[in-house]
Amino acid sequence: GMKKKNANVIVIGLDNSGKSTILNKLKPEESKRHDIVPTIGFNVEKFMTKALSFTAFDMSGQGRYRNLWEHYYRECHGIIFVLDSSDKIRMSVAKDELNMLLNHADIVSRRLPILFFANKMDLRDALSSVKCSNMLEVEKIRDKPWHICASNAHTGEGLEEGVNWLTDQLK
Ligand code: GDP
Repeated sequence: GMKKKNANVIVIGLDNSGKSTILNKLKPEESKRHDIVPTIGFNVEKFMTKALSFTAFDMSGQGRYRNLWEHYYRECHGIIFVLDSSDKIRMSVAKDELNMLLNHADIVSRRLPILFFANKMDLRDALSSVKCSNMLEVEKIRDKPWHICASNAHTGEGLEEGVNWLTDQLK
């Protein structure tokens, strides 16, 4: 029969939000053995599971590489946006990056599902997922399905719930 095409998911967020840790938890065992080689000055991580193909990169501090990672927008079918829920100071930076993403020409008119991980939920001063979504004004997203999950990338808590939601959206 026909091989089902993998859906491309981009995993983005500020540096230190927990993207690598989340990906490591989601990665199939065999691909954990391969070291990820940094590409042209900015880090891109890629791996595939049965249903999804993940590509991750940092959005922050590397403005001059912006056009290099933005070219992944066109081919993506879904987005995972990772937040450090304990980093209140940079929540507004994350909000700016989210708005830039949502207004990008290759994203703006498409009905792409967006999964938010309010990561580091285990930290004492972590904001709740509701508080995070308020600070990012996620409710204003009307043309794309979205979902927010509190997560702990160390234990894996919240990750499966989130990825299951995204996988359902991509069917
Ligand atoms: P990236 O830059 O977005 O890829 O972030 P990393 O995955 O490298 O994580 C940045 C730091 O946050 C590391 O020290 C991680 O161990 C830590 N970290 C990631 N996820 C969590 C989490 O859920 N809880 C806590 N307490 N620390 C986390």
